Amino acid sequence: PPIIVWFRKDLRLADNRALSAAAGEAAVIPLYIREPADSGNGALGAAQAWWLHHSLEALGASLARHASRLVLRSGAPLDVIVEIARASGAERIYWNRRYDPNGIATDTALKKALAERGIITESFAGQLLHEPMRLLTTTGGPYRVFTPFWRALELKNELAPPIDRPHHIAAPGAWPRSERLDDWSLLPTKPDWAATFSEVWTPGEDGAATRLEEFVDEKLDAYKRCRDIPDADGTSLLSPHLAFGEISPAQAWHAAAGPQADSGEGAATFRKELAWREFSYHLLFHYPELGRRNLDRRFDRFHWLNDEDDFTRWTRGLTGYPIVDAGMRQLWRHGYMHNRVRMIVASFLIKDLLVDWRKGEAWFRDTLVDADPANNAASWQWVAGSGADAAPFFRIFNPVLQGEKFDPDGLYVKRFVPELERLHPRYVHRPFAAPATTLAEAGIELGTTYPKPIVDHALARDRALAAFRQITSAA
Ligand code: FAD
Repeated sequence: PPIIVWFRKDLRLADNRALSAAAGEAAVIPLYIREPADSGNGALGAAQAWWLHHSLEALGASLARHASRLVLRSGAPLDVIVEIARASGAERIYWNRRYDPNGIATDTALKKALAERGIITESFAGQLLHEPMRLLTTTGGPYRVFTPFWRALELKNELAPPIDRPHHIAAPGAWPRSERLDDWSLLPTKPDWAATFSEVWTPGEDGAATRLEEFVDEKLDAYKRCRDIPDADGTSLLSPHLAFGEISPAQAWHAAAGPQADSGEGAATFRKELAWREFSYHLLFHYPELGRRNLDRRFDRFHWLNDEDDFTRWTRGLTGYPIVDAGMRQLWRHGYMHNRVRMIVASFLIKDLLVDWRKGEAWFRDTLVDADPANNAASWQWVAGSGADAAPFFRIFNPVLQGEKFDPDGLYVKRFVPELERLHPRYVHRPFAAPATTLAEAGIELGTTYPKPIVDHALARDRALAAFRQITSAA
């Protein structure tokens, strides 16, 4: 009988242990289930729905090249799997494990329910370099601090090398019914706000492999120096591919350490970033409330202002602080934002506007193509200062100085905020401080063509520190 291989966040053929194991044993029914939205599984944000469409299309095409198919179904996994098993005679289902709380809850219950119906589940590792239940401190608990976690991860040094895609994926005697991808309506209709995404992205395993190759050949050596400069295009841009499992972290890790790569500073720094992803999953696994609740419970008493207008202006990139606005508009344009700028916009929302980090996290979840339940939640808590090993709350980014330091010529700002294109670099991060003649020459009318700052950073900073003192002094 055939084996069902359920693809989830592992939309790839290479280094896919569930698929390879199944293909080595029997005919394979590759299956993708569109799980009900309220299960919390799957790609639910609008930007990721776009990505998912293209990624499933790519996976279906790769399988077709192996004379196989991707069966698409929607519904509760138990119903779908049982039906396909009955119709095809399959007695086994293989999948790669997922580590987010909803995924774990679904899979644990499912495994049991399937066993009761005579269907055996086998699960495999592959979404992470190390499984979070196995990498523990000497006292057997989870890590809360990155550096010892990183040391342990490196020391263990038992990272399984990636495996090739299976040579042969045998087809079942008869194919189960599949839904049509187009009927899932994952793509935006009117207006097609995702039209600009393809300027940057090619979803799918081939797109991921090309990105990795280009990164290792062209950017890895300079990665340490360039990764913090938003305009430099110095990072791998692998995050959405990793989020959908179009590439495994082991593939990225080994490519960066491989013989053709300089195993110098660039590679070491890159592997450390991959380790931050591991750390986020480690936290999410051990603290499943990571996306919903402050890990530092003192923040439960924090007095957020949560002003709706402020929040809306932040989402639209109309705060009057160019680096913040450029970041938020990059997000609209490409479903992505450079890491340095993510930190700046998050700090601005939380500390300058006193909006609860969970609102920012939710906005990112809906708009990022790389939205990830672990990385997104852990990063927002990190910036807020409410997380494990977080930046302290009182470290408040000054959006002007951050802009001047990391985007000194304003090239990143001008790319995404064209209203400021003609402004002298000296004022590009502080148009509000520019003399009237300078503004006029650049064709800028503050408050009309580009907004005035929605808060005064110095006052906002004092306000944030006062709010923070309230929760720390009451402790
Ligand atoms: P590279 O610099 O090439 O790094 C390689 C890989 O390492 C990334 O693809 C990513 O998987 C991992 N990585 C890099 N930096 C981090 C980090 N700080 N934390 C965890 N993993 C990291 N990343 C996401 O993948 N999904 C998210 O939803 C997400 N939300 C974020 C929200 C905020 C507020 C902040 C500050 C950061 C967030 N990040 C998130 C982390 C980081 O910004 C992105 O992973 C990175 O910008 C992706 O670009 P890249 O692939 O070119 O990164």
